[in-house]
Amino acid sequence: MKRPILIHPDPRLKKVCAPVADISDDLRQLADDMLETMYDAPGIGLAAPQIGVLERLIVLDCVKEEGAAARPLVMFNPRILAASDETNVYEEGCLSIPEQYAEVTRPRVVDVEWIDRDGKVRSETFDGLWATCVQHEIDHLDGKLFIDYLKPLKRQMITRKMQKLKRERARL
Ligand SMILES: [Zn+2]
Repeated sequence: MKRPILIHPDPRLKKVCAPVADISDDLRQLADDMLETMYDAPGIGLAAPQIGVLERLIVLDCVKEEGAAARPLVMFNPRILAASDETNVYEEGCLSIPEQYAEVTRPRVVDVEWIDRDGKVRSETFDGLWATCVQHEIDHLDGKLFIDYLKPLKRQMITRKMQKLKRERARL
């Protein structure tokens, strides 16, 4: 089932999310709903707080090539074990901040550990777009948005645009 995505500014997007204890069927269903919502948007990543659930769960799939097989990843309690000194700059966007993009500098390579859909602990090294995406999504679990990396003036400009967008949507 597709879920509505919260739009910034929203207090739920600023909260630190709680770790998940057991991977229940309810949580698996939530992860499936998040993947459906993400693919439908369309987007390459989604964090649980973006649909108003304050738990440490993210989903992502950064396969972008036309015709390539999808690679949906479900990560409960993801954490970054190590990050490279070398950085990468990507123009980032966010499903909670529609149609706004800005360059963000992050470590180019990260080692991430998480619990998968079956409750197994997994780890993997991510590079390039995957590394940027997984860091962006984990930030959401700590109440951090990509615009928090921007200069205050730019951040305020984007926030005002989002407030206007929300007023317009509320009138519909
Ligand atoms: Zn985001």
